[in-house]
Amino acid sequence: MNLLFMGPPGSGKGTQSKLLCDRYSIVHLSTGDMFREAITNKTEVGMRAKSYMDKGELVPDQVVIDLIRAKVTSLSGKGFILDGFPRTVPQAIALEDLLSGLGLKLDGVFFFDVQKEILVNRLSARRTCRKCNQVVSADDVSKAKCAVNSDGCDFYQRDDDKPEVIAKRIQVYQDQTSPMIEYYKSNPNFLKIDGTQPADQVFQVILNKIS
Ligand code: AMP
Repeated sequence: MNLLFMGPPGSGKGTQSKLLCDRYSIVHLSTGDMFREAITNKTEVGMRAKSYMDKGELVPDQVVIDLIRAKVTSLSGKGFILDGFPRTVPQAIALEDLLSGLGLKLDGVFFFDVQKEILVNRLSARRTCRKCNQVVSADDVSKAKCAVNSDGCDFYQRDDDKPEVIAKRIQVYQDQTSPMIEYYKSNPNFLKIDGTQPADQVFQVILNKIS
């Protein structure tokens, strides 16, 4: 099963990806997580990506396409969820070429629809665990259990979840990513989901569709 999750930052793609990967043992391919890991490891790609991410801008298409090509090719047929890629029409075209070259296709394209005001509130309150990448609202930090470390989570606020960068990321989404929705609308497996519903309800909608 190969799925594509798209939608603005804060629309719940990452949360739903994690729920679904736990349920089906498929691989979560988040380009944002890949870049954050590369930054932590101080790799050349990480250092290059950081300068764009800090400003809320997109990393150049070719850097992202090369990264995702290497990951998808290394999965040797295992199912995956693409979260945060593609983000531009050229990336979508590159993905189509990559998948058709590997004899693969997308079995589901889910678009998480959430209004701007809700995104701003969600992103401002969002906290991310350094160890397990779990994302929770600031109010829920004390209740969270870490998926990888028995000492618990180590939450922080991403630099790009600060107010000035949030506004830029939403603008970049509207200008560069939303035109891509048109590209996928004709896909027979396209489904628009109301991403303002609670996470468990969104998850149920996805499960119903893929079953
Ligand atoms: P995310 O964790 O998906 O919100 O991504 C964080 C940041 O990583 C974005 O604001 C971009 O700077 C960069 N990024 C992630 N995925 C992509 C992509 N597909 N194309 C370009 N930049 C990306």
